[in-house]
Amino acid sequence: MKVCIIGAGVSGLISAIELGKSNDVSIDIYEKNIKAARKLLASGNGRCNITNCYLSKDSYNNPSFASYILKDYSYIYDYLTNLGLLLTSPDECGRVYPISYNSNTVYDCLMDNINKKNTKIIYSTYIDNIVKKDNKYIVNNTEYDYVIVSIGSMADEKYEHNKLEECLIKLGLTYTKTYPSLSSLVVDKNNNEIDGVRVKCKARLDVDEESFENSGELIFKKNEVGGIMVMELSHILNNIRRSRKINKATIHFDLLPEDGFSYQKHNYIDDKYNKLKDDYKTLNGIFVRKLSKEIIRRANEYDKSQKSLDKAIRITSRSAILNNIIHDFSYTINLNSKPSMYHVICGGIDLKNITNTLESKRNKKLYCGGEVIDINGNCGGYNISFAISSGLVIAKSILENR
Ligand SMILES: Cc1cc2nc3c(=O)[nH]c(=O)nc-3n(C[C@H](O)[C@H](O)[C@H](O)COP(=O)(O)OP(=O)(O)OC[C@H]3O[C@@H](n4cnc5c(N)ncnc54)[C@H](O)[C@@H]3O)c2cc1C
Repeated sequence: MKVCIIGAGVSGLISAIELGKSNDVSIDIYEKNIKAARKLLASGNGRCNITNCYLSKDSYNNPSFASYILKDYSYIYDYLTNLGLLLTSPDECGRVYPISYNSNTVYDCLMDNINKKNTKIIYSTYIDNIVKKDNKYIVNNTEYDYVIVSIGSMADEKYEHNKLEECLIKLGLTYTKTYPSLSSLVVDKNNNEIDGVRVKCKARLDVDEESFENSGELIFKKNEVGGIMVMELSHILNNIRRSRKINKATIHFDLLPEDGFSYQKHNYIDDKYNKLKDDYKTLNGIFVRKLSKEIIRRANEYDKSQKSLDKAIRITSRSAILNNIIHDFSYTINLNSKPSMYHVICGGIDLKNITNTLESKRNKKLYCGGEVIDINGNCGGYNISFAISSGLVIAKSILENR
């Protein structure tokens, strides 16, 4: 039996590992890049948040379909451990990493488990066509009994559609509209001076009349805000965007939440300022210099913008102005610009085209798994877990049906 896997990401590699355990199966994996699993290597900022102890179907956009595919946490944990990958204990958000906190370890482990005797990875080969001939498929001039499409999201890093798309549609694998799901957010203000600064804080996302809160790490980027906390909010924003038009979206950061990450008195900034009478000295010891400078710049701007206001309603106390900026460091979100970075794309092959074992309903022996299908999960190890689960489900189905 000959199997073609298009795409050497986590999902395709897991299918290959499982299929490769059978000696009568021969597997060709086609990969457009010169290296496999590029996205996996970049995941979790190179640390690879591989799974989560709170894995559940409800962490995905289509819980009922996800429930057919998703393995539970202990299954994934045991599976990876059996592959030889040692994992950390879950952190406070349930996130689990390789013990090395390095995605290269995961890559090495997956590659070690590929059976070199019956599995070939053919690099630098972009597949843009699959031809059905009788009961077989022709890919790259080679005849296969089964084809697995595990090409990741339908849009690439530049949101350009995959060249395989047209051919998949002809084969009955139509797809839903794609757009970034977990991403940084493009904002109206320039962050050049604080590019790369990280701060643990709280965030509130206002989408028209609705508000959503989160806390965690914020990363400033040139004209964007990012970090896991922001990405989780972007997931909410993008899901709303999917269902209706948004008129206005703003994001507000409380850079020094009072019930936050360190003990502080209610009037901490006021008391410190009244004692020191100096902006920098007040902010020193709390924020990194670059961020203090930006807070002061915004405070000066705020002060200037008040000049036209009636004296009675102006905020004149400098500590009150600093407090305002610190507790409401806000941006309008630019909904028309594409973020430079996304982690997951929403949309993909429409679930109505595929069975509960990820096989095409119209064309038997044609499977698709991982991020290419219209399933996306929350931030925190849920997407790699889904890619692993789908690779396992596909391999099992092929081995049972051969
Ligand atoms: C920066 C970043 C950080 C992330 N961090 C995390 C995290 O910490 N935890 C988490 O759970 N998820 C994370 N994700 C998401 C997660 O990495 C993906 O959901 C997961 O890797 C998807 O696996 P996949 O096998 O479905 O697709 P991919 O990993 O995208 O693999 C698809 C493969 O197919 C190849 N390919 C595509 N088209 C063709 C073609 N036509 N012909 C040949 N080859 C083709 C691609 O080059 C690629 O190697 C992150 C994503 C990004 C971008």
